[in-house]
Amino acid sequence: ALTVTALLRAHADTDGQQAALLAADGRTVTRAALAAGMRAVAARLRALGIAREDRVAVIAPNGPDMALAVLGTLSAAACAPLNPQYPRSEFDFYIDDLAVRAIVVTPDSPALAREVSQARGLPLIEVDTGLCADDGAAFSDDASPDDIALVLHTSGTTSRPKQVPLSQANLAASMRHVAASLALGADDCALNAMPLFHIHGLVAGLLAPLAAGGRTVCAPGLQLPAFFDWMDACGATWYTAVPTMHQAVLAAAGERRPARPLRFIRSSSAALAPSTLSALEAHFGCPVVEAYGMTEAAHQMASNPLPPQPRKPGSVGRPAGPDMTILDPAGAQLEAGIRGEIAIRGPNVMRGYHANPDANRSAFSGDWFRTGDEGYFDDDGYLFITGRLKEMINRGGEKITPREIDEVLLGHPDVAQALAFAVPHATLGEDVAAAVVLRPHAVTDAAGLRAHLFTRLADFKVPSELLLVDEIPKGATGKMQRIGMAERLASARR
Ligand code: ATP
Ligand code: MG
Repeated sequence: ALTVTALLRAHADTDGQQAALLAADGRTVTRAALAAGMRAVAARLRALGIAREDRVAVIAPNGPDMALAVLGTLSAAACAPLNPQYPRSEFDFYIDDLAVRAIVVTPDSPALAREVSQARGLPLIEVDTGLCADDGAAFSDDASPDDIALVLHTSGTTSRPKQVPLSQANLAASMRHVAASLALGADDCALNAMPLFHIHGLVAGLLAPLAAGGRTVCAPGLQLPAFFDWMDACGATWYTAVPTMHQAVLAAAGERRPARPLRFIRSSSAALAPSTLSALEAHFGCPVVEAYGMTEAAHQMASNPLPPQPRKPGSVGRPAGPDMTILDPAGAQLEAGIRGEIAIRGPNVMRGYHANPDANRSAFSGDWFRTGDEGYFDDDGYLFITGRLKEMINRGGEKITPREIDEVLLGHPDVAQALAFAVPHATLGEDVAAAVVLRPHAVTDAAGLRAHLFTRLADFKVPSELLLVDEIPKGATGKMQRIGMAERLASARR
């Protein structure tokens, strides 16, 4: 088993002068300089008294400084990157839940990060790539494969988001899995506009390119049409993104294409509509490979292969890392063609949720981890995802808790019952709908309810479809049934 640092060191030792991190304008940090920067961050954390098992939050916007902050922190402690756009209440929740011991920021971090550290008496260090003084020295690598390198939260289907601790070995395995499925090499340059506080951007966008000895552009986020300038300035050979980002890229593309054609484009984190896949392939003239990932698997589980092997639109590809199977509710394995719960096991899969025995009991079936996703393998071993057993709505990669929408609807004086749920959508994968039972003598209507929602929820959470119904179907226990609502409504309309 390996550690993240050991994988990076191998390349720094071979040829330290090769570029590793790039800024969007093309400025580079070499492998040796990155090693030096990581060692400097680690030394500063140790000077604060931070031990390897301590949790350290990184609060910074995307860019090379943020990449260094994460890489340096996870080489020395358990790194917990937080969305820098959180409001104060979210920072407080995550800092408490994680028992954070220190905060790492960069020069362009929000002022709120410093305020939070002061208010909570947490030591803070500021880091930037100026620390990457290329002194040619090697990493100080005292991490073991079982040490926790990263702690992320799931989006939280139940009321409390679950903590996912990922070890050095989990990350090292996943970064190599991604590099292997994409045949990444030293000549590759990834353009990474995915947030570095999510597993997709961290593993596929940052760690996998470095594991292969290649380069990665630490972009500030998705900015269009600048994205196309960055591709050319940095000589990108590929990029990875969620489907909504691909759609935005296509919408802004016009006649813009990279000066040097990309080798491929990767999509993950939500279902990629076959129409988006073919539009991307037509515009960029390169293969588009869809992959399947989740936080608990340190990102990648399955991936479509590159040519000459066939990729199948609508499929997330073949197992690309962990062992995969389909389980029935009792835990028996199902054969090809039969739908059931997708389950995984392997070196990239977390040991268990932190301090959450209930969640762990239901998530593991023997040594198989249940993903909560439903699907089947076809006869060629390609996986098709048919649904999510859990309730979370995935609107083009934006994860929405339906209960939050229910609660806002129920806060309206005219609403008796409310249930938000996912409906299939051609390009987003899933869209938000809600069924509402009004009280007798109610004066509002669907438009009135939508106005109520828009003032209380982020726009993307407001249901596109709001149905006034006489009753909402209940399950055996009397609880309203979110799963299957879309189908029931569709058949009721027929
Ligand atoms: P929670 O676990 O709290 O419900 P989440 O599962 O939505 O949150 P993530 O770990 O970010 O949070 O997302 C993983 C999920 O995203 C997968 O379980 C799957 O449902 C979905 N997903 C990922 N890749 C794809 C894909 N290519 N096609 C369809 N769905 C995908
Ligand atoms: Mg999940």
